[in-house]
Amino acid sequence: MSTNGTAEVNGKAGLLTPEPTQVLWNHEDVIATMPGGPPTTDSTSPVPFFHMLERLKTTKREGWRRFGITHGESISDHMYRMSLITMFAPPALAARINIPHCTKMALVHDMAEALVGDITPVDGVPKDEKSRRESTTMDYFTKSLLGRVNGGLTGKEIKAIWQEYEDSKTLESHYVHDVDKIELILQMVEYERVHNRKLDLGEFSWVATRIVLPEVKEWSDEILKEREVFWDGQKHDSYSEADLPGDEELAQQLEYYRDDRKLPNNDKTV
Ligand code: ZN
Repeated sequence: MSTNGTAEVNGKAGLLTPEPTQVLWNHEDVIATMPGGPPTTDSTSPVPFFHMLERLKTTKREGWRRFGITHGESISDHMYRMSLITMFAPPALAARINIPHCTKMALVHDMAEALVGDITPVDGVPKDEKSRRESTTMDYFTKSLLGRVNGGLTGKEIKAIWQEYEDSKTLESHYVHDVDKIELILQMVEYERVHNRKLDLGEFSWVATRIVLPEVKEWSDEILKEREVFWDGQKHDSYSEADLPGDEELAQQLEYYRDDRKLPNNDKTV
């Protein structure tokens, strides 16, 4: 912090320094702005929560905005396609995981963004602060809005599945993290197609190198091959395992994707 109390921003390092306003983020301030006022809490009806879910339909995924795509996909668009993709695990993988559980995980994994918004690596919100916002929001959903609905059981299940995705320890959560990346790569290629080779979204292609399961890797290889055919020799960005973004940029990106594995070529973890 500088002497006048504002957060210092010195080049890229500053991106990880929280602004005072960010630290003070509170889900109640967001709820207060909802048309019709804050939802009823401690209700035995799930309807207030159903209304809350509308925000996932109207909140955009932010990553594309930097590229001028302002009417892009919403958070629920992204989670809907992921949910369907989870059902297509090839037999060898399907035999080892609980697919309906993965489908549910895809449906809830970004739910907190209904109030928190989609915080991207360039927004400068530190990992801990992002987690705090999301976790507080999930507690608000599952306790204040759903705590008395069906004896609180569905809310508890939603929170537990969300936490499992965050912790990223089970095979199911690894699969859903991979599907999250597949969905991004699909959308990247689709936006490029709409823009007829005038928009290069290749900076997102590095996420393919972070896919863990070989079954999912096969899908990303296929999509990236389609992409090469689409660009037809015209110059475009693409990352491979051997050619990744710089360490600092990569570290920020990995935070965003909740990817806790080691960075390549060194011992740093994020
Ligand atoms: Zn996601």
